[in-house]
Amino acid sequence: MLVDAGPRDLFGETCGFLGDALAEAGIANDDITHLYFTHLHPDHIAGALTKDGQAVFEKAQMIVSEADHKFWSSEVFTDETLIQWQGLAKASIAAYAGRTEQIKDGDTLIKGITALNLPGHTPGHMGFRADDGSDSFVHVGDIAHAQTLQFTNPEIGIAFDIDMDTARATRKRTLDMIATDGMKMSGGHMLQPNIGTLKRAGSGYTFVKG
Ligand SMILES: [Zn+2]
Repeated sequence: MLVDAGPRDLFGETCGFLGDALAEAGIANDDITHLYFTHLHPDHIAGALTKDGQAVFEKAQMIVSEADHKFWSSEVFTDETLIQWQGLAKASIAAYAGRTEQIKDGDTLIKGITALNLPGHTPGHMGFRADDGSDSFVHVGDIAHAQTLQFTNPEIGIAFDIDMDTARATRKRTLDMIATDGMKMSGGHMLQPNIGTLKRAGSGYTFVKG
């Protein structure tokens, strides 16, 4: 299962190395059977599409939340940026048509891994959790984009959040869950090394790698 596909060439020449990373891990594009999008923002989906809109992962089932699928398919935007983003979201839906699975909170993605509803950043934004006995790992998607600010002070939102208040509530609830339950975590925009735990610090958290 591949979770999100990166920005391809949209963010310039220092980004978009998903293909190289997969090759380095010895994984061919056709080895990917499940392509899970935490949400349909360009920097998470462009890497799954060629420049002319074809699917990069020809054997993969695309998995996305019902809410994000509906939002990007049917919402009418006036903002130029959002109109552009919607174009790419629709292109991903078209490229993987006929092999798309729409999911909701708690659904199983693959064995042992379940979808976790994290609304606000987009209406259907989701992460996932993996549980093995008493060990748990959670991928929080885009509940934070600047961890040094937003873990320290979870009140801080970002302009990319479609519904900033809901995103704030999601961030606070999720970070609290991770710290309380001693879960390991990672996310879409975290700095390397990007797997660790959270320790409470004042009204926020410190990220502890490992
Ligand atoms: Zn995003």
